[in-house]
Amino acid sequence: MDEQDYGNRNRRGDWAPNKPLEVGPLLDWPWSPMRVLRWLPSYFLPWNVLFMAAGAVFWVWLTPSPESMQSLEAGWIAFILARNSALVLLLYGGLELRLYVKRRQGGRFKYNAKFPADQPSKIFFFGSQNIDNALRTFGSGLPIWTAYEVMLLWAWANGFGPWATFGDSMWWLVGFGLVLPLFHEFHFYCIHRLIHIPALYRRVHSVHHNSVNPSPWSSLSMHPVEHLLYWSGTLVHVLIPSHPLLVLYHLQISGTGAVIGHVGFDKIETGKEGAVDTHAFAHYLHHKYFEVNYADGMLPIDKWMGTWHDGTVEAQNRMMARIKKRNAGQLD
Ligand SMILES: [Zn+2]
Ligand SMILES: [Zn+2]
Repeated sequence: MDEQDYGNRNRRGDWAPNKPLEVGPLLDWPWSPMRVLRWLPSYFLPWNVLFMAAGAVFWVWLTPSPESMQSLEAGWIAFILARNSALVLLLYGGLELRLYVKRRQGGRFKYNAKFPADQPSKIFFFGSQNIDNALRTFGSGLPIWTAYEVMLLWAWANGFGPWATFGDSMWWLVGFGLVLPLFHEFHFYCIHRLIHIPALYRRVHSVHHNSVNPSPWSSLSMHPVEHLLYWSGTLVHVLIPSHPLLVLYHLQISGTGAVIGHVGFDKIETGKEGAVDTHAFAHYLHHKYFEVNYADGMLPIDKWMGTWHDGTVEAQNRMMARIKKRNAGQLD
């Protein structure tokens, strides 16, 4: 597979796709049913189907019985922490090993020409982006993710909240499941915009942005306050009728799924001619330019707010003009 068929490298060696990024057409104007139909497969495949499958496997085989979850005991809580950590280790670690340690596909389809390991920086614990990112992932990311999960499963096991069953509310739950990735994006946009307020950015969100050239371990490398905000969206399950399967799916989308934006490669090669699209470019541009693509583009929120960057020169010029105007305003 030739990366030049899909994109170009600039003088610095950074790669970008040829085609401008497009926002999801569901709420984009002018609305076109054909565009929605063409887009739908990419909404499900490969990621959301994978996260649903992981959530289902967790629910059916790897979640303790309702009786044991009625009381908050260390044994089952530790089990949930261990199973979440194992999945993250497997997926993030696997991608990191393949793409960044063994460098199986070299720099093909890699946005940033450099590899983080080749650029040690004092900004990170032990001077290493990888060690720093992994410490934050396992040190506060997974414990806080697990705390939300434990709280919600405990609430379900005790009947606290408007929980539903598939027997009684099948269509509601299916509909809720179908829009969950969109809800996650909307919630992420809101908290993400919030932590870009300068005071919060300096104290909280800058930790995540230290990884200007992200790799899989950067996905959940955040300040604990950002972790708290990031998973607060899952509290929706105690506000409207839901089911633990949807809680686990939601945590997969937000937890494991954080990796999507941070792979650093546009395609993961699966053989000589095969490759999986990562959909990572929109969030890569956020890490590169900070003030664009606060959401991931499934919903056109950034387009509405004038912060969408689709990778084109026009979008770059629009961003520069916006920053110039804002800086001029600050100087007044
Ligand atoms: Zn990020
Ligand atoms: Zn940000």
